[in-house]
Amino acid sequence: SRVRVAVVFGGRNSEHSVSLLGAGSVLEAIDQSKYEVIPIGIAQDGRWVLASERQRYAIESGRLPTVDETGDALAIPTHSASLVALRPGEIPRALGEVDVVFPLLHGPFGEDGTIQGLLEMAGVRYVGSGVLASAIGMDKAYMKLVLRASGLPVGPYVVVRDRDWRVDRARVLKEAGDLGWPVFVKPARAGSSQGITKVHDAAGLEEAIEAAREHDPKVLVEAAIPGREVECAVLESLGDSPPEASVVGEVVVAEGHEFYDFEAKYFDGGMELHAPADLPESVSERVRALAVQAFEALGCEGLARVDFFYTPSGELIVNEINTMPGFTAQSVAPKLWAATGLPYPQLIDRLIQLALRRPPGLR
Ligand code: ATP
Ligand code: MG
Ligand code: MG
Ligand code: MG
Repeated sequence: SRVRVAVVFGGRNSEHSVSLLGAGSVLEAIDQSKYEVIPIGIAQDGRWVLASERQRYAIESGRLPTVDETGDALAIPTHSASLVALRPGEIPRALGEVDVVFPLLHGPFGEDGTIQGLLEMAGVRYVGSGVLASAIGMDKAYMKLVLRASGLPVGPYVVVRDRDWRVDRARVLKEAGDLGWPVFVKPARAGSSQGITKVHDAAGLEEAIEAAREHDPKVLVEAAIPGREVECAVLESLGDSPPEASVVGEVVVAEGHEFYDFEAKYFDGGMELHAPADLPESVSERVRALAVQAFEALGCEGLARVDFFYTPSGELIVNEINTMPGFTAQSVAPKLWAATGLPYPQLIDRLIQLALRRPPGLR
C-alpha cells in the first residue's frame, strides 16, 4: 500500500504564502502511485486544518494564497494547555495515521525546530533537519557563531537584542555605524528577505532596525558584502556517503531591485537563476565544499540551501543557510538539483525516503 505523507504547510509567520506555493508544487509533482498525500494547512491563526486538494496554491493576479480557515479542523491543539494532554502517538492519529510528515514550512514555527520538536515528541518521522539544526539555521546570530566556529567565512555583523535596543540604543547605533556603510539590517529569525533593509547612512539606521523588529525583537546589522550572489543546495545521501552538493547557481536580480528582495524572489521576472553559474571550476568546487561543510557544521539532515557572496577580490563569504529552502519546482534549490540531474519529483521522493529510513529519536 502507498506510504501516507502528511504535507504540512502555511503556518504562523510572514512566509505563510511562500510555504503554500511550495506545497502546491509538491502536491502536483509527488508520485501518487507511491505516496498518498494528506494536505494539512496551518492557518494564520495557528489552527491546523485538513486542506482541500482542489484548492489552488498559486499567486493569482498578484494575490498571495493563504490557508482556507474553513477547512475541517484537526484535533491538533495549538495552545499549550491542551498540548500536554497529548501522548506520543496521538498526534499521528490526529493527522490520520501517517507514515511521515513533510513540514513544508518556512520561518518561525516551521523551519526553526518547533514543529520538529512536536514530531520528535510524538515519535513521527519527518522530512528535513532535526530540532537543533533547524533552530540554529533559523537564528542568524547563532548560525553565524556556529559557522564561524567551524572555520567558515562569515562577514562582520552586530547583534541587536531587544534589551540593547530599549536600554542602550546609542551604543547599538555606534557599534552598527562602525561596520561602515552600507549595512543590511535584518530580523534574526525570518526569511524571504522580509523585514530586510539596505541602509546607506546613519540617518536610515533607526528606522531600519524598527522595521526588522516588526518581525523579530532580535535584529542583525551586517556589513554589506559586495559581489555576486551564488547559492548551492546540499542533500543528505541515502547511504553512508557524505552529503552531496548541487551545481552552483548564480542569482541575478532584475533591474530596479536594490537587492534580492521579496518581490525579486517571488514575482515573475524578478530574478534569473544561472545554473550552473558562470564561474571558474575552482571557485564552484570551493562553493560546493563550503556548502557541505556548512550543512555538516549545523548537523543538517535532508536538504538545505547555502547562500554565498563571491566578492570582486575572489573571496567567498557564507551569507546564510536555509534548512527548508523555497520548494516550488521553480525555486532555486529544486532547480539546482534538476540542473545536477535530479528532477523535482525524484528530489521529493529522495527526501521522503531519507525521512522514512531515519528512526525517530536521537541520532
Ligand atoms: P531567504 O529567502 O534566502 O531565506 P533571508 O530572508 O534569510 O532570505 P538573506 O538571505 O540573509 O535573507 O538576505 C536576503 C538578501 O539580502 C540577500 O540575498 C542579498 O541580496 C541581501 N543581503 C543580505 N545580507 C547582505 C549582506 N551582508 N551583504 C550584501 N547583501 C546582503
Ligand atoms: Mg534565509
Ligand atoms: Mg529562508
Ligand atoms: Mg537568503
